[in-house]
Amino acid sequence: MGINIEPPVELNHLLLPKSSELVPVEEHIQDKEGLVQPEIYTFDFENEDYRRFILFNLGRLAVRTREAAAERAKSYRGFTLGVTAVAIDMEASRLGIFTEGNVKNDKNDPTNCGELNTEIPIVEFYRMERIAAFFIAATSNVEKIKEVNQVPARTLHPCKNCGIALKRSREVDNETLLLSFGKVIDIAQFMTVKEYNALYATFRKTGNVKDYKDPQAYKLRTDDDEGAFLAESYSRSVRRQSIGGGEFHGDKKRVQKRNQELADTITRESIHFR
Ligand SMILES: [Zn+2]
Repeated sequence: MGINIEPPVELNHLLLPKSSELVPVEEHIQDKEGLVQPEIYTFDFENEDYRRFILFNLGRLAVRTREAAAERAKSYRGFTLGVTAVAIDMEASRLGIFTEGNVKNDKNDPTNCGELNTEIPIVEFYRMERIAAFFIAATSNVEKIKEVNQVPARTLHPCKNCGIALKRSREVDNETLLLSFGKVIDIAQFMTVKEYNALYATFRKTGNVKDYKDPQAYKLRTDDDEGAFLAESYSRSVRRQSIGGGEFHGDKKRVQKRNQELADTITRESIHFR
C-alpha cells in the first residue's frame, strides 16, 4: 500500500523545483467569516511536475493542514480535523491550495467533513479541473479513529460519506492522493483514491474488521538531516507567513510568537519520513 512513489526514497531525490519561485496571483484576504481565502498560484504544467511540487511541499502542507484543525475546525465533541486540497487547472495554468476544517456544532447537525468543505470552493467558485491531493490531519488515536471509520487505522482516512463523495466527484480520480497525518503530524499514511477504494471496499460490505488491512505508516522523525528539504520548505513557509502571508489570522503578537517557535523548531531539527 502507499502511493507508488515511496516517500523516503523519492523525496530524497527531489531538487528544488522552479515552483519555489511561485508567487500568489491573488492577495490573501479574509472573508467575512474570517476564513482565509485559498492560495492560487500560476503553475507551468508543461515544465513542472505538480506531484513533485506536492511532495516537495509535503511538510509545509502538512503543517498548514494541522493548523487548520486547530483553528478552523469546530466539533461539539472535540473531534477536529484539518484538510488541505491541492487542486490543479492545467488549462488555465493554475494550482490552488484550499484548507478547511470539519464543522459540527451539535450532535444533531449534519457532519460537514473537511474534505467536502474544501471541495465546495474548488468546484463551485474557483472551478478547478482536478483535485490532485487531499492532506488530512486529525488524530493518531486509534480509538477515536474507530469511532469514525470502525477500523483500527493509524491515521484518519476519509469517512464513508466522503468515500461516496470522492467517487462521485468529477474533480477527483483514481490517482488523487490521500495523505493523512496524526494531529501533530507524527505519523503519516499515503494512498491514492484507487487504493483507498480497494482498502475499504470489502470491509464496508461485510463490516468485518478482518477485511481491513491498515496501510504502511511512516513515522515523522525530527532528528535526521536527510529530511532537510522538508525543513527548508517548512521554513520558507514560516518566512512567508512572517511577512504577512495571511495564512494565520488573529492577534499579530500571537502570530509572531508562533512564527518564532516554528522557526526555532526548524533551525534545531529537520523532519524525515521513516
Ligand atoms: Zn467525511
